[in-house]
Amino acid sequence: MNIARYWRTEKIRLGLIGETCRTCGKAIFPPRDVCPHCTEAGQDVHPFRGTGHVYSFATVFDAPAGHTEYSPYPVALVQLDEGPLVTAQLTDVDKEDIRIGLPVEMVTRKLKEDGDSGMIVYGYKFRPVVSDSQNTG
Ligand SMILES: [Zn+2]
Repeated sequence: MNIARYWRTEKIRLGLIGETCRTCGKAIFPPRDVCPHCTEAGQDVHPFRGTGHVYSFATVFDAPAGHTEYSPYPVALVQLDEGPLVTAQLTDVDKEDIRIGLPVEMVTRKLKEDGDSGMIVYGYKFRPVVSDSQNTG
């Protein structure tokens, strides 16, 4: 396997890699062929900082297969500092503390475990920004 390619795809899966449009300059997430803002093709890869705030949220009680271990769990529409909205599970938060406007940051977490194969799927979630741990980078 091509190591460079492996890390590149790994970064897209585990990090928050989007694009910026070469025509209008707006941030795009997830990556797509055509800019949703100006419909022009051609974007540059753009790693998002992974910080934003809760735009809206809901609690999922009826979890899909593979997610029942965490049910019920909070899901939020997170507005990234760069602009795009991302749907993601919230983690490390008491549901009483979730509110619109809550500052959040991306973390890489186990998303689900495949019961038969034991395969663990990782992806991003968001958690409240902890002000005294800014240098974990
Ligand atoms: Zn554009």
